[in-house]
Amino acid sequence: MKTMNITPFEQKIWLASPTMHGDELKWIHDAFEKNWITTAGENINEVEKQIAEYVGCKYAVALSCGTAALHMAVKLAGERLYGQPKPNQGTLQGHKVLCSDLTFDATVNPVAYEDGEAVFIDTEADTWNMDPDALEKAFEIYPDVKLIVIAHLYGTPGKMAEIREIADKYGALIVEDAAESLGATYKGKQTGILGDYGCISFNGNKIITGSSGGMFLTNSKEDADKVRKWSTQSREAAPWYQHEEIGYNYRMSNIIAGVVRGQFPYLAEHIERKKAIYERYQAGLKGLPMSMNPYDIEASVPNFWLSCALIDESAMCKQVRGEQEALYIHKCGKSCPTEILDTLAKYNAEGRPIWKPMHMQPIYRNSPFITAQGNGRARSNAYIADNGGIDVGADIFNRGLCLPSDINMTEEQQNIIIEIIRSCFE
Ligand SMILES: *Cc1c(COP(=O)(O)O)cnc(C)c1O
Repeated sequence: MKTMNITPFEQKIWLASPTMHGDELKWIHDAFEKNWITTAGENINEVEKQIAEYVGCKYAVALSCGTAALHMAVKLAGERLYGQPKPNQGTLQGHKVLCSDLTFDATVNPVAYEDGEAVFIDTEADTWNMDPDALEKAFEIYPDVKLIVIAHLYGTPGKMAEIREIADKYGALIVEDAAESLGATYKGKQTGILGDYGCISFNGNKIITGSSGGMFLTNSKEDADKVRKWSTQSREAAPWYQHEEIGYNYRMSNIIAGVVRGQFPYLAEHIERKKAIYERYQAGLKGLPMSMNPYDIEASVPNFWLSCALIDESAMCKQVRGEQEALYIHKCGKSCPTEILDTLAKYNAEGRPIWKPMHMQPIYRNSPFITAQGNGRARSNAYIADNGGIDVGADIFNRGLCLPSDINMTEEQQNIIIEIIRSCFE
């Protein structure tokens, strides 16, 4: 590697840090003045209204986090499909659920909370989301499955038309995890309202944040009311605490809602700035044996939450990953995610490996995993799944990485990051 005369960044360049504007404080202050320091108040009502209007659904229910929204969505689906469970049993009652594989574990953990069994569906190379061909294959193997949980990775919408068609053919419901994709559109519609139950997140690193928080999105008043009730400990309309159902303490705080309320007017600006970061990487990394995370230009407009890169197979140096650590051997003209991430870290910049696929995670390693091709032809350096198919998710995990995508990063800083990445191939 060429020794560079680049000095490390004085202040760390983050993968994706909060971008605050000052309005957030105004609404927090408002909550203090009105003394609504609880899980009710004007900030909550207002952000619920604004988000529902923005994404184009009738109801948004503000919750403590995106994971809570996903839990409520999965529970609603389970109850609708399989009825009331026995006491001490989750609503999925042991039934299988077909889930995105290349995602953050919050997408799929609620299936386990509700006593379901996740079956992981491999990823397609066009948008890095659930592969409709693998989904179709899973239904051929498990024709009785009635629920799909799908995420839109890194803010890029998946192939929802194809997935909807397959879901309808098998009479299955869709829980849509739009935690990373708020503001992204697919065929003119916002992600989060493309499935039967939608979920978004306001976690600290998302496109807009409340520091934490999430929302459940729906057109059904009955579902919205149920989530409001379940998320406030399932209290019945009695003079005392009366409970007929299991409850949860999942409601959003009015203080958090104030932060979201202050952030929301800047969502469009954040997306613009994320898009500019993506495009600068695209231009700056030209000529290197790598490509950006792809999307379907005709069908979708991503929110460009994270810019990612995929190294060409032929340009991968040797990289070995264990359960907790990674090693690589540098080779001229080649590189690998570990080398690039280590080098970025040396200069005080934060990238991250691609989310490790669920079927490779120790907790889910025994779950079924379905690839599109049952006897895919082996490619050099390809990952072969149990059933002989090509494991696209593992391949993206191996060759891909998330680049520093912080809105607060300046153009000059990004140019230096591009230089650092270039140096890894020298
Ligand atoms: C962040 C995230 C979640 C969870 O949201 P929280 O608000 O952190 O609970 C769920 N799914 C995906 C894909 C995420 O990135």
